[in-house]
Amino acid sequence: MKNIFSYNYLSYIYQKSSLIQMIPAPKLIDLSHIIFDGLITYKGLPAPIICDYLSREQSKGLYDGGAEFQIGKIEMVSNTGTYIDCPFHRYEHGHDLAEVPLEQFANLDAITIDASGSTSIGIEFFKYKEVRDKAVIVSTGWSKHWNTDAYFENHPYLTAEAAEYLKEQQVKLVGIDSHNIDNTQGKTRPVHTILLGANILIVEHLCNLDKLPADNYKFNAVPPKFKGVGTFPVRAYAMV
Ligand SMILES: [Zn+2]
Repeated sequence: MKNIFSYNYLSYIYQKSSLIQMIPAPKLIDLSHIIFDGLITYKGLPAPIICDYLSREQSKGLYDGGAEFQIGKIEMVSNTGTYIDCPFHRYEHGHDLAEVPLEQFANLDAITIDASGSTSIGIEFFKYKEVRDKAVIVSTGWSKHWNTDAYFENHPYLTAEAAEYLKEQQVKLVGIDSHNIDNTQGKTRPVHTILLGANILIVEHLCNLDKLPADNYKFNAVPPKFKGVGTFPVRAYAMV
């Protein structure tokens, strides 16, 4: 039977922990906008109302020993801030937030596509890149217009052909730092239809994409586990 207090065993543990210490912690890059009371994410949809359900002042009478707490109350549409689209957003029988497995939201191998300065982002941006099985993060620079009127009009979007190509390549997720991944000039939404129909998640309203490396990093965007909801704000981030 192994003696866990033996010198050899303790030495082994020590070496292991030393090795672990030598591996630098990954750098985290926050890719999410701040959500605040009154913020308009999407023109035509209401802004969130963020307030106290229980204020600190009210709570004082409920606790002893100087303890006080705040419990917030939020009223919002689920398309608020930096958010993720699951298939249920587009399809009645598609997976909702609770049904999409955690593996689709987190620890995804990622690649950045630089599309800054372009409005219509076509297949040529993806064709000669290693996008297969990855989270494909499309950097347009549009997030500089966030929370201004300019954000909603003439924003960058993917073409239907680009979405078809990404579907063929079996990408895991597509993210963009724009107002919508589809062109909102018309009423069709082919990119949502194609990607969500293929169980490929979408993250919109990302930011800080100019801080990402070209590839070889992990992308994470995990929402809470709500039943019967297809979109929700995420704290999207990269691990570099
Ligand atoms: Zn969307």
